[in-house]
Formats: sequence, structure tokens, C-alpha cells
Amino acid sequence: MARIVMKFGGTSVADIARIHNVARHVKREVDAGHEVAVVVSAMAGKTNELVSWAREMPRAAGDNSPFFDAREYDTILASGEQVTSGLLAIALQSIGVDARSWQGWQIPIRTSNAHGAARILEIDGSEIVRRMGLGQVAVVTGFQGLAPDNRVATLGRGGSDTSAVAVAAALKADRCDIYTDVDGVYTTDPRIEPKARRLSRISFEEMLELASQGAKVLQVRSVELAMVHGVRTFVRSSFEDPDAPGMGDFDNPPGTLICDEDEIVEQQVVTGIAYAKDEAQISLRRVADRPGVSAGIFGPLAEANINVDMIVQNVSEDGSKTDMTFTVPTGDLEKAVSVLENVKDSIGFDAIQSEAGLVKVSVIGIGMRSHAGVAATAFKALAEKGINIRAITTSEIKISILIDGAYAELAVRTLHSVYGLDKQ
Ligand code: ADP
Ligand code: ASP
Ligand code: MG
Repeated sequence: MARIVMKFGGTSVADIARIHNVARHVKREVDAGHEVAVVVSAMAGKTNELVSWAREMPRAAGDNSPFFDAREYDTILASGEQVTSGLLAIALQSIGVDARSWQGWQIPIRTSNAHGAARILEIDGSEIVRRMGLGQVAVVTGFQGLAPDNRVATLGRGGSDTSAVAVAAALKADRCDIYTDVDGVYTTDPRIEPKARRLSRISFEEMLELASQGAKVLQVRSVELAMVHGVRTFVRSSFEDPDAPGMGDFDNPPGTLICDEDEIVEQQVVTGIAYAKDEAQISLRRVADRPGVSAGIFGPLAEANINVDMIVQNVSEDGSKTDMTFTVPTGDLEKAVSVLENVKDSIGFDAIQSEAGLVKVSVIGIGMRSHAGVAATAFKALAEKGINIRAITTSEIKISILIDGAYAELAVRTLHSVYGLDKQ
């Protein structure tokens, strides 16, 4: 007997029929004698609908924040998961599985006060553990918890993955299964490149880079938590027949295991390609080249909660003026430009230029640590397709390249093939 946390994403609970299907997956594990807690997302499209309703609401005069009150935004968004948790608990009861729903605040899952992007701080799993011991399944709402102000807080988009891993860590579960609409983690997004291959294992570090460079399959924070707490996490499909052979195999379930590097036998140089759409580029022309200028630019942007990513600073020709280029999410572009206009005089630059709709493509692999020439291969392959590179950043196990949005799919497929990741 083991303890398992099973998480089901939006498409896995998209309608009533799919919720009944999820109940069968849960019943399979319960019937095998395991203690089970389930974490659910909102039904597919629900959170987007709630966000759009929140955005439609008027803001107070002079308030430029995207939502007039982040606490109310969280109240609205958290409702999606509440509905799913109740529906799944009923579906489980209807097939003879003892179950009840738990809202994040009822457990409680304690979070920070950063409404809309809260971090999980602590989970009191004692009551759930007690009830699991009596054979009851806990159906927990993902994506939310209770903030220090005693109000519901949400964890940022895709946050149910993080709820699941955090619950698994708190319950000391033997395994955390993330069920989604693909049957594992692939060498790149299988929706863009049908030749992508499923990985049987991927290291925490590579998964962290894939997720933070745009692969939606797991939220970044969930991978961090799994790594820190050593949670054995599988990505697998809810779309397969719950009772197909092998589905209940405890040691080797179908899917991708996220694990330590040393558990991976055949390490490739490049493991995967990720892409992030909706990047925007800002260039400040003829910025004074003196100490304090970067702090003067990026300090106010950070204070405005704008995430700056790639930064390129040219060497100045005459030692007095230079150009500074960097990227921000397209959604923050307008705000970033207005923040910079406000500090223009104190920083000292001639002009701001900006462009939205760019894409960042990233090549990821632990093997890069010990292999030279990985970046050169990418540059050559993109050049041969006539794709212009706007900016480049690298880390020990990653190369990121900024290109025009129109070339996103071509670039992903080109890089996927040049590193030999295509299916044979
Ligand atoms: P859920 O609703 O279950 O949380 P998501 O839509 O958040 O599902 O994540 C699953 C999606 O992630 C897949 O449908 C796939 O298109 C996308 N994806 C992006 N990169 C990858 C990758 N490398 N491997 C698998 N899926 C990926
Ligand atoms: N429902 C939330 C979202 O769409 C959380 C999640 O699905 O993980 O972002
Ligand atoms: Mg998701």
C-alpha cells in the first residue's frame, strides 16, 4: 500500500463525462489499496472566462493596475476549482468511493499575501491523513490557498501543478501523478512538432528550464518544489482507458518521471526545445554609459513588478553613450514604456523603441555542460532557414534565442531536428 496524489488538469475535467472518467482513474488506485488525495483544476476554459470577466470590470480613477483589487480577482478565479472539486467528489461517491471536497482554505493551505501570484508556505495535512487512513479520498482544489489576510489567494496560472506537488510533500506521498492531455513530457510541444518524442525520464534541472522557458506542461514552481522535497513526480495522460494494462503499475506507470540527474542512464546533449510566445523587446537608444544606469532602468521596472528577461548592452563607441535592449512580456509592454518615460530625465537616454509579438526559443540539455558547439549549431541551422536572431542569452544548460513571432514554429522544428530529437 502506498500514498498517491493524483492531479487532473483542465482538459482532464473539461465536462461531466471527463469527470466520470477521472473518477475511474481514482477508483483504480483506491481499489489497489492505496491512500489517495486528488488535486483538481478548473474545467477547461473556465479560468480564462473568469479572468476575462474580472478584466471587464471598471477600475477606480487613476488606477493603472490590471485589476482594481487583486483580492477580489482571487475570489473570482478560485471559484473554478471549487466547482470541479464538488463534481468529482460526487462522481466518486456515485461509484462507491468515499470522497469529500476540500477548498484550499479548509485544509488550510497557507500562502503568502501576493494575491494572484501567491506562494504556498505551509500545509496542515493532518486531517486529510487521518481520513485517508479511514479510506476517504480528499478532493482538493488546486491553484489556491489562504493568505495571511485570511482571504483566498491564487497561485498564478497553471498553479494546480504546484498545489499537487506541495500537497504530496505535505502528506509525504510516495508519488505525485500529474494527469494531463499528453502522455508525458516530450522533446518539444507535441502540438507544434508531431515528431516530438516522449521522454521516459527527465532531470529536475532540465524540466525546470523547459517549464521556465515556456513549456506549459508543468508550472515552474511545481518543479522547484518537487526538486527541493524529492517528490517522485510523473506526468501522464488521463485520456487513456483507466483500466488499460499497466495503468496501475506502481513502480513504472506510463508517462515521464521527473527525477535526479543520476537516475537517467542515457543522457543526450540536448534534451528538449521550449518556446515562449508574447515576448516584447524594448531598446533604449543612446543611454549614458556610467555606473548606476542599469540600476536606474531596471530598479523602477522591478518595483512595477515587471519581469525583465533577456538583457543586451552594447559597448559604447565613444565611452559616453550606449544602447540597452531587453525583453518583457508583451502584456507588460505598455506599462514598462510608461515607467521608463517617467525616469527618462534621471537616466538620460535619447529614445525608446519597442516591438511586441516576438518569440523566445530555447535549447535545453544538461549535456551542454560538457559539450562545445551546441550554440553554434543552433545559429547555423536558423541562418539556413533565413531566421534572424535578435538577442541571445545562455546559461550552463540552456541557450535562448529571440526571433520574430512569425518564425516560431519553423524555429522549433528546425532546432528539434538539428539536434536529432525527431522520432526515428
Ligand atoms: P493541464 O490543463 O492538464 O494543466 P496544460 O495545458 O497546462 O495542461 O499542459 C499540457 C500541454 O502542455 C500539452 O497539451 C502540450 O501542448 C503542452 N506542452 C508544451 N511543451 C510540452 C512538452 N515539452 N511536453 C509535453 N507537453 C508540452
Ligand atoms: N485553473 C488554473 C489555470 O487555468 C490553474 C491550473 O489549471 O493549473 O491557470
Ligand atoms: Mg497546466
